[in-house]
Amino acid sequence: MTSPTRTSEVDAVVIGAGFSGIYMLKRLRDNLGMTARVFEAGNDVGGTWYWNRYPGARCDSEAYMYCFSFDKDLMQEWNWSGKYPEQPEILKYLQHVTDRFDLRSQIEFNTRVTAAHFNESNNRWLVETDQGDRISAQFLITGIGCISSGQIPDIPGRDSFVGESYHTGSWPHEGVNFTGKRVGVIGTGSSGVQSIPVIAEQAKHLTVFQRTPQYMVPARHHTVDREYLDDVKANYDEIWETARHSKSGFPYEMTDKSALSATADERTIAYEKGWEEGGFKFIAETFPDISVDLRANATASEFIRSKIREVVDNPDTAEKLLPRDHPFTSKRPLIDTNYYETYNRDNVELVDIRNEPIDKITSTGIRTEDGDYPLDIIVFATGFDAMTGSFFKMDIRGRNSLPLKEKWAAGPKTYLGLSTTGFPNMFMITGPGSPSVLSNMPVSIEQHVEFISDMLESMRERGFDVAEPNPQAEEDWVEHVNEVAEKTLYVLADSWYLGANIPGKPRVFMPYSGGVGDYRAKCEEIAAAGYEGYVLSTST
Ligand code: NAP
Repeated sequence: MTSPTRTSEVDAVVIGAGFSGIYMLKRLRDNLGMTARVFEAGNDVGGTWYWNRYPGARCDSEAYMYCFSFDKDLMQEWNWSGKYPEQPEILKYLQHVTDRFDLRSQIEFNTRVTAAHFNESNNRWLVETDQGDRISAQFLITGIGCISSGQIPDIPGRDSFVGESYHTGSWPHEGVNFTGKRVGVIGTGSSGVQSIPVIAEQAKHLTVFQRTPQYMVPARHHTVDREYLDDVKANYDEIWETARHSKSGFPYEMTDKSALSATADERTIAYEKGWEEGGFKFIAETFPDISVDLRANATASEFIRSKIREVVDNPDTAEKLLPRDHPFTSKRPLIDTNYYETYNRDNVELVDIRNEPIDKITSTGIRTEDGDYPLDIIVFATGFDAMTGSFFKMDIRGRNSLPLKEKWAAGPKTYLGLSTTGFPNMFMITGPGSPSVLSNMPVSIEQHVEFISDMLESMRERGFDVAEPNPQAEEDWVEHVNEVAEKTLYVLADSWYLGANIPGKPRVFMPYSGGVGDYRAKCEEIAAAGYEGYVLSTST
């Protein structure tokens, strides 16, 4: 532990000032009257949306649902400009919320939490930061996001490259000028497919290095008008209520139609309609069994492959872009704008690195088994050490000084994705084992923040000041998370949901796939039973 320069005592330390940290701070202050400090590594609020400023960065949740619902006036006064929210607009929204509720003064910016140790003698957390803070807190609450720890693969020669290189998740604030440059993008996940079309428009030449082709559905992004916003705002209560009790936190009208009971013509009509509408509705409002039944899924997967062949002019390029080694939706589904069309440009080239593996990065570009690709800029759109990576960057220790990293060495173990045995009074907003990344995040974040603050209030009323899940409750939850996941298609792909993108990471399905609505009902039952599964105690 580093030498202290700033010392204090608070009721709660919150880590991170994204959607989670901002709302948690508000609840702690306004509902519980607690003292709280938020530590944030960036120099402003925003979390994911502070760091991910790559060209084309936008959320795949519709804007009117990618926000808070806790304050009706806030919902009525904010106007989104488009169907999907762009990164600068989300950042502006979060800055607005922070200032509107006067939260900024309790946030320490440019400050990264380095360690948090639980002291069993006084049941308090000692939190340390890279700025020399040493804070004692009764509660430690993480709002560190699920996809925040960027991953650049260890390709030989990486440091020898003399050009510019960037990871999409820590993009320079002043932007990158691609004009006249030869650019290479490695990775074709959500970040890659959003940035590739925009970079292609600016760069002299763009080479995309693709490992796994993915399924994409068009976003059909557009600006929205007053009438659209008025309609949403008039129906906000109902929209949110539907989303809160839905499978994924969206207010879509789910059908119970099966792709397998429909005729081929009926399927084509439904898929064409979904394709025209765009976005996640393609999954929710066509045939829900495409995300649970492999045979149903095959019909949607083939439809998307037919669209790729239709859009991409060069048949060899189209062939390379066809996803075949995993079912649609088993990896995080992608929503695109002009992605496939981009391969019809003269200045864009696709390299299939499964057939032509990258040998090394040289001082002047990327060398594959088949030759050299000279580059001025390399963009790593290579993803994140998701769900656990950001926890492990901090030295978090619970009872008996056990490091969290050690407890989770074989995969994360939590109760409800909110708490973990041996780490009393530590709460994780959208932690592993909760719906989190399988949902529209703000819906899950609000539910967790409200669960935590209600629980702290209930503990206080009943005279308890220490909470920790009992080991059996945690074992049962972990088993349930695994059991539910085994029945899904998610386990059929090598994805970051399973940690498969990080060499050496245990292959464990980390989020909870039982659905937002059912999960909420379970949490409500647990709360109504006095926070069943937790051991609540009193320090003295
Ligand atoms: P990602 O989905 O993990 O994609 C990473 C890409 O890099 C994949 O194509 C991967 O190939 C490739 N890759 C990884 N290591 C590689 C290596 N050693 N050599 C070559 N290629 C390699 O990461 P992401 O695109 O940053 O997205 C992460 C998540 O963030 C998304 O799934 C989504 O949840 C969220 N996100 C959302 C939005 C949005 O809402 N629009 C935007 C950005 C991010 P493989 O597939 O073969 O592993």
